[in-house]
Amino acid sequence: MPLAGNGGYTVRRYTLDFDWQAPRTPFAAVATVRATATQALSRFDLDFAGNTLRGVTVDGAPAAAVRDGDELVVTPGRPVPRGGAFTVRVAYTADPTQGRHRDDAIQDYGWVPTADGTIVCAQPDGARMIFPANDHPSLRAPVTFRITTPPGLSAVANGRLVGTDRRPGGRTRWTYDSEQPIAPQLVQMAVGRFRFVDSKGPHGLPVRDVVPDGLVTDTEAYRSLTPEHLTWLEQRLGPYPFRRYGVLVGDTDLPVALETQSLSVVPRDDLLGDRVDAERNLVHELTHHWTGDSVAVRRWSDLWLSEGHARYYERLYSDTHGGDSLEDAMRAAYEQHDQWRHDEGAPAEPTEATLFKVMRYDGSALVLYALREKVGAEAFDRIERTWVTRYRGRAAGTADFVALASQVAGEDLTPFLKPWLYGAHTPPMPGRPDWQVDPVED
Ligand SMILES: [Zn+2]
Repeated sequence: MPLAGNGGYTVRRYTLDFDWQAPRTPFAAVATVRATATQALSRFDLDFAGNTLRGVTVDGAPAAAVRDGDELVVTPGRPVPRGGAFTVRVAYTADPTQGRHRDDAIQDYGWVPTADGTIVCAQPDGARMIFPANDHPSLRAPVTFRITTPPGLSAVANGRLVGTDRRPGGRTRWTYDSEQPIAPQLVQMAVGRFRFVDSKGPHGLPVRDVVPDGLVTDTEAYRSLTPEHLTWLEQRLGPYPFRRYGVLVGDTDLPVALETQSLSVVPRDDLLGDRVDAERNLVHELTHHWTGDSVAVRRWSDLWLSEGHARYYERLYSDTHGGDSLEDAMRAAYEQHDQWRHDEGAPAEPTEATLFKVMRYDGSALVLYALREKVGAEAFDRIERTWVTRYRGRAAGTADFVALASQVAGEDLTPFLKPWLYGAHTPPMPGRPDWQVDPVED
């Protein structure tokens, strides 16, 4: 995704003012982007798609703005000097029906309308349909959300509810602060007839689920497992890296859950069916808060580090909670691994079209499994804990992981991991000489 993100500046904060009206109805929106120039800027780009642009100012003065594909090219009246702080204000009419489609695990993304409001699923490059952003997975900034809703509706977003204000016409303005910097792809903002269900995780961690009115009771059994999932993951990966957590129940048929930061969205049907499947999805999105949200990917080609870890711990949990054994699942993945390499690229070699295919999930969990078989469970656990600790709140890539694993294990793992991560053929699985890869079919 070579056009994702932009150079020349660092975003300090996004402030999003959304004057929500009704489902599938355009509404007035203002995005205020506070940034610092990292070079002298006579013009700069934001990623922005669709919607109706109303006007752009830079430091209060009108600025020229031209749209070119997904780029919003802004030319301020006066250039911004290197090191200078500046504020861009983009007024637009937001279109909350706007979405795009991918032929992989993402399916439909962007705004996801619900019967009485919306949720958003921006991953991977859909934040630009919601607000003008520096839309790259490694580029994070705090976000303030100010969402005004009609009577009877609530708004939620990542992080902490700062407060609510009464507005004319019985409307309510909800202010949220993401608390920690967030990548645009992990932003959540939702409107609906919600109930807030509070509980506590380990060490008193605030847990607040956001549930459509009619689904509170029916989804309670699986939602209430979150504290157990947090405890289980903390035993393996160390302290949960954010200040709160919760599950937003998506009142949508879209079958995709997403690790939106501090408030994972999980579709209704995931919480109404089989317990083993529900727990796999819940543990998967929660694991992402260590790998994917806290440790961000440096670039999309590193996605295996985010999805591979989420799938690995999802399967490890399921192994002892009524699901398939990890060993069986990994053996099945091993058999198909050459075919996946052929069809979808090696784990660390996706193309844009094959990014969220199964190779980034079970195919990449298999790489972690192979690493564990190679170095032993004890060294593997130290690698994992060191990974999420050293890169907490930072972006990291494949080379960082290989270097860290080598350092922690006390041996150069480059010759071992490189063939697993790149190239056409699946290496032998350590300690499993009987495991065979199925022949590739064109
Ligand atoms: Zn995932």
